[in-house]
Amino acid sequence: MMDDTVYKLAIAGFMHDIGKFAERADMPISEEYINNNAGLYQPYYNNHFTHKHAIYTAAFIERYKEFLPKEFNKRDWGLEDSFINLAGMHHKPETPLQWIIAVADRVSSGFDRKGFEIYNQEIKTRDYLKTRLFPVLEGISLNDNWKQDLDSYKYRYELKELSPENIFPIKVKDIADKTENEAKLDYKVLFDDFVECLNRLWHKENIPIWFEHFENLFLIYTSFIPAATVGNIIPDVSLYDHSKITSAFASALYLYHKYKNNLVIEDIKNYEEKKFLIVSGDFYGIQDFIFSGGGSTGKASAKLLRGRSFMVSLLTELAADLLCRKIGIPSTSVVLNAAGRFTLIAHNTNNTIDCIKAAANMINKWLINNFYGQSSFGIAYIEASCEDFVSNNFKVFWEKLQGLVDEKRYKKFSFEDVPNVFENYLDSFNNTLKHPLCPFCGKRPAHKDAVIKISQEEIENACKICHDQIYVGEHLVKEDKIAIGTSDVDFRKDKLLEPLYGFYQLSFDVDGKLNELAKTGKLLKYWSINVKGGRLPKEITSKFINGYVPRYDDDDNYDDRLLAGKNKDKIKSEILDSIENKHPKTLLAISKKALNFTDKPEKFQGVEALGILKADIDDLGLIFSYGIKEELKTFSRIHTLSRQLNNFFTIYLPNLLANSDRYKDMYTVFAGGDELFLIGPWNKIIEFSHLFNSKFKRYVCGNPDVNLSAGISVHKPSEPIMTLAETSENALHTTKSNGKNGITIFQETVKWHELEKLNTIRENIQKWLEEGVINNAMLFRLNEIISMVKQEKEIQKVGYPIHIENMGCLKWRALLKYTVIRNVGGKLKGEEKNRVIDDVMALAKWLYDYSGGTKIPLWQIIYNIRKS
Ligand SMILES: [Zn+2]
Repeated sequence: MMDDTVYKLAIAGFMHDIGKFAERADMPISEEYINNNAGLYQPYYNNHFTHKHAIYTAAFIERYKEFLPKEFNKRDWGLEDSFINLAGMHHKPETPLQWIIAVADRVSSGFDRKGFEIYNQEIKTRDYLKTRLFPVLEGISLNDNWKQDLDSYKYRYELKELSPENIFPIKVKDIADKTENEAKLDYKVLFDDFVECLNRLWHKENIPIWFEHFENLFLIYTSFIPAATVGNIIPDVSLYDHSKITSAFASALYLYHKYKNNLVIEDIKNYEEKKFLIVSGDFYGIQDFIFSGGGSTGKASAKLLRGRSFMVSLLTELAADLLCRKIGIPSTSVVLNAAGRFTLIAHNTNNTIDCIKAAANMINKWLINNFYGQSSFGIAYIEASCEDFVSNNFKVFWEKLQGLVDEKRYKKFSFEDVPNVFENYLDSFNNTLKHPLCPFCGKRPAHKDAVIKISQEEIENACKICHDQIYVGEHLVKEDKIAIGTSDVDFRKDKLLEPLYGFYQLSFDVDGKLNELAKTGKLLKYWSINVKGGRLPKEITSKFINGYVPRYDDDDNYDDRLLAGKNKDKIKSEILDSIENKHPKTLLAISKKALNFTDKPEKFQGVEALGILKADIDDLGLIFSYGIKEELKTFSRIHTLSRQLNNFFTIYLPNLLANSDRYKDMYTVFAGGDELFLIGPWNKIIEFSHLFNSKFKRYVCGNPDVNLSAGISVHKPSEPIMTLAETSENALHTTKSNGKNGITIFQETVKWHELEKLNTIRENIQKWLEEGVINNAMLFRLNEIISMVKQEKEIQKVGYPIHIENMGCLKWRALLKYTVIRNVGGKLKGEEKNRVIDDVMALAKWLYDYSGGTKIPLWQIIYNIRKS
């Protein structure tokens, strides 16, 4: 059982600055309350009380006590200090526990002891009500080109709730000037909403679950509130990030001093002692986990794919959760979590190390047993003191932490820790089944209970893991919420056959008996996994771990492209059934969406193929290690940065796809952290990559040091999913080795700004084609000429004397001219013909400027008009 005082400290740490929100929103507070309590909560400096937000924190807890778990007001909840004083006394701490919150607050802000004294005088900026959050991404630099002052920041976030739309910063010049009252009103609107939702939070009777829901609500409402608006501090860290990190430090500090049996102020104020363990976890083998093939059947492959990519996120969340549970810290102590990697803050004791080992063993034993070494979790830890988090020291510590994680990345999982896992492998096959080896993975033994319904008349026995992945993949698209419980929880309907890590059971359907389960402590999590209508769910925790999956809708009734090909009648009934049931689209259906309509209703042109877009952020490691100016580098700021990057992929992107008519047939296989894996109709994917990059650049305020690289590959829908993954990965790799900040399509790498120009070129050539100025034959001729241009460029680059046999390529200009004259403007004569020829000769410049890059527009056109 977890120590109640840990939660008390963690939540008080989380709520310590809630008074900033309340104060700026002008929450009613009586003169009498102020007169009675100012002396208690507010420091006295230069003849007046400072830090008014502290008294507001106390007043908030008092005023809304009915909205909070009743334990908060109970005398016997945890150790002696009242909850309200723990949260409210952080600028005037008196007891050891109050000092824990105060120190956690300072460490989270990166202050050393001296810096804090200055901070504690709280020189508020004149415009603190009007100050809006600065984008940390705008300030990133990889060449010491830092912003000199606050005025050099050109963007702000609006003071709104977190939503797919609001995560974009806005140019200062586009934001209307506000009076102080208007600025306050923004706060008030946000605050009133927050309080109303606070009252509606579920699971008040189960503090760990409630706290997770509360964190989510706080995230939604305070992500754009600047934590600090004093002095010269750059207000780019949100109240949410600051509160979260403070909470994590508070839990760890308390447990450290409790175990060391020195809960005394002098020791709590010690900055040199190594009180913390920073624990990192890294999911190895994600690619294999998601894409590995080998099964004898391709049935249910889309469900399997969805289930597996969701499982990667889920297993990461739960690995972090399991560590927290074993160590005895709340799940809010997980401070970084994106794309299969997490970091948490724990207390440095021998017991913690034993717990980490026990959890790591449990996690990896389960992974080895079920995945035979294909995937594992690298878990590493490092000691830290308060001093390590002081802004000027943090850079060094951060690099140590990264080094540790990277070292683990290349170290194979040690099998000595997990003996004899394959011992019973052969005995585990059930030879009475039609396929004793699971036909979906071709790896694990099939199980009699793992029945997969392939169609009305066909069933297959899968292994337990494939069964669970298919179960998850099927329900993800239908349900909005998941419940996670202990392995012995009473989920009556469908659930996993193989609880995750042998500990976590999962169900999509537990409505009605939740409260009962929460009271017994067997319900551990209740998460919402879908963003609906552009707003994030608020009553419970929302986890952005579900990508976007295209589903059939009514429009598909009128889309004959889906019927293209053989067996029209057979497909027709299947598709009608899918439309009616809003089934997810198959990869085959997605590839058909690449076809283009012609004048004749049932005639289409173009290639029926999938495009795979793989993209990630360039130099991410450098951005975290060197992108933030040394004296500004704090854990809270790193947290803000990591979360904001992740938001783009996990909150914005799925919503963009879901609400776009043009791009709704894309499928996010993976999106999170800094990377993306998208499947769609090949031509839409190429178009989309350009849009995606321009949105990203807007998101990072056009910062020239924060860029994306991407690679696109084009495939028949029947190719194995692993091939798709590898080919697109290679394309991305080509971009990376050609200077990054660009994209590789049809094996040609161009910069993003070039892609924009190439799009214009495509439009031009397309127009000539439609107007009959050029013909299809000319397109193939151009393709040959492009190879010559590339060769010429190669020769120019090398620079030494050229062999005569290699000089043929130099004739491309003449050949182009000849081709143009022969092919262009068929029926035209005289002046008019010459004018058109001159127009088309613009090609010479384009070919020279972009050489191989011109293949990108050319092949798009060729693939789009090919007879199907
Ligand atoms: Zn299987």
